[in-house]
Amino acid sequence: MPRPITATLHLDAFANNQQVVRRFAPSTKIWSVVKANAYGHGLKNVWRSLAEHTDGFALLDLAEAVLLRERGWRGPILLLEGFFQPAEIALLDRYRLTTAVNSDWQLQAIAEARLQAPLDVYLKLNSGMNRLGFAPDRLHNVWLTARELANIGSITLMSHFATADSDEGVEQQMATIERAAAALDLPRCLANSAATLWHPSTHGSWVRPGIILYGASPTGDWRDIADIGLQPAMTLSSEIIGIQQLQAGDRVGYGGRYAADGPQRIGVVACGYADGYPRHAPTGTPVWIEGALTRTLGSVSMDMMMVDLTPCPQATVGSKVELWGRNLPVDNVAAAAGTLGYELLTALAARVPIIAGE
Ligand SMILES: *Cc1c(COP(=O)(O)O)cnc(C)c1O
Repeated sequence: MPRPITATLHLDAFANNQQVVRRFAPSTKIWSVVKANAYGHGLKNVWRSLAEHTDGFALLDLAEAVLLRERGWRGPILLLEGFFQPAEIALLDRYRLTTAVNSDWQLQAIAEARLQAPLDVYLKLNSGMNRLGFAPDRLHNVWLTARELANIGSITLMSHFATADSDEGVEQQMATIERAAAALDLPRCLANSAATLWHPSTHGSWVRPGIILYGASPTGDWRDIADIGLQPAMTLSSEIIGIQQLQAGDRVGYGGRYAADGPQRIGVVACGYADGYPRHAPTGTPVWIEGALTRTLGSVSMDMMMVDLTPCPQATVGSKVELWGRNLPVDNVAAAAGTLGYELLTALAARVPIIAGE
């Protein structure tokens, strides 16, 4: 018997979540962001479901782009960080990939390449995140250069928001974008999930939602998306593989970090940090067992964790345990562990089998 841990995909969630995106951004094309192996869901497992309602796929690994082409996706593919070596341009040309351009050397390399056809590019503006992109006062000249290059086809303006998910919003960065791009009549692609949901002024020609396609919150707080109809695309589940009966003072797990106040029945679950479950999750992190919400106890081990069975006395060896998914938002587990759903989903370990469910 294999270990009982599995990640079950709810492939119907993708069409549902893309419909939510369309509701919020009705006249905009959608890049479905599938970087990091489709946020841990497995690009090869999910791309077909996403393909039915997307206009394109955005990612950053060339290997993932090639996988999509080899599996038959003929629509647009955007490389969110562009290319990392001039030698990669031959593959961009061969596989017809749209590329972000965030540096002079990239523009130079495109100018010098020998191509079958011009490349479509996304000129990346640094509007305040100070990660990648051209400075606002350079954008106009970069655009003047780019549009003269025979190797460049269409040009779209791209930027990325640092605080679209918080009270600060996008106002300041939008002002920078408006100033830098005032004289440029370029289609725009600016919005991540948070901007797609909450800042319509950013929508432009294309939006780039990632995390909401997988049914998790861009803010890290599930309550922020609870009412808009998103569905989780993954349930991580396992089983109870052992039971212990504690007495007052008995301690649990490495470091003995949890001690029982009185008699307490606990379960041992086949899931640990080597499966991608956060080791930092403290006692009290939520877990769903047989229709009841319960909590972890003590430290998470590499391959196991312990849970309180007080709210579910009927649970026994073989009982199903949901670590996150349809009954327990990944955001709630992440919040307890001091991180985001993004990190938990993308950290799912390769040893966890991913299966298609209903
Ligand atoms: C990851 C990423 C996105 C998607 O972000 P979400 O918060 O998951 O919606 C959009 N644009 C860029 C450039 C990204 O790197």
